Amino acid sequence: MHGEAQLNPQSSISISEYKNVLCRFCKSTNTLKKGFRATENRGKIQRFYCRDCKKRFVVDDGFYRMRNNPQKITQSIDLFYKGISTRKVQEHLGVFYIHNSSNVSIYNWITKYSEMVGQYVDKINTTSSKQIQVDEMEFFTKGKPTWFIDSIDPESRYMIASGFFKNRGIEEIKEVLKLAKSKDNKISHVTTDGFTAYKKVVKKVFYTYKNKVNHKVTNASKGEGFNHKIERLHNTIRERTKIMRGFHGSVESARAIMKGVEIQYNFNRKHLAIDCHPYQLATELQLGKNKWLDLIKLSKSR
Ligand SMILES: [Zn+2]
Repeated sequence: MHGEAQLNPQSSISISEYKNVLCRFCKSTNTLKKGFRATENRGKIQRFYCRDCKKRFVVDDGFYRMRNNPQKITQSIDLFYKGISTRKVQEHLGVFYIHNSSNVSIYNWITKYSEMVGQYVDKINTTSSKQIQVDEMEFFTKGKPTWFIDSIDPESRYMIASGFFKNRGIEEIKEVLKLAKSKDNKISHVTTDGFTAYKKVVKKVFYTYKNKVNHKVTNASKGEGFNHKIERLHNTIRERTKIMRGFHGSVESARAIMKGVEIQYNFNRKHLAIDCHPYQLATELQLGKNKWLDLIKLSKSR
């Protein structure tokens, strides 16, 4: 039988492949690989030596000083975003791992890594289809209405930008659209529902002398099905988040979880209509089987 540390993490990314590893202490790149550090939960970890400050160090691959191995952590995150409650994830881990983790630890991994990967994916440019659909969903956080505002590229189905807010107004919509623009500066067709705040914000964010943005407004009550694709996405999200029955913690942790929902949808779920993961059509990223693991490593290595 294999111990926890020997499980194959199924990653295509190895931190020791990176050249010019930065010294953790003096930021020098005058470093070299030198031996391994044996850890209880994560096996052997590559150690580096800095020729300038003469110190030895290990690179933070996203799991630095974590008491559980990356396989167990990413497995928990994956199960959670497939719709399994943290309590059931804990039960599952209890069967397969020697040390049990509390469901609070599991919840903390989920929010921590969703935030970490979220900051990374927010900087990934997308290959453009020049159009986005924008919509909102209402969620209750501690019994109060909160809003998930998101935009997708209807061709690749990639969710280009999302945000989670206490309000649904001009500022919040602007934040999401600006993020979309920062990832794809060729967006020229924007589809929204008739909510009045969109009119101003779409023009303000996307309209330039060279880029005459086309804003299409659909009226859902008249049965116009143009937002079809984003509506289907929202049904999927509702299905996945049903288990949460609203958020009971802070708006910040609800925001982290909804960021994770975006990541799961873009990177870790095969979309039937396109027969692949949306990121494969919308970005240049190459990931192995364990998407969460590779995304965590990538967010630490750049
Ligand atoms: Zn150094």
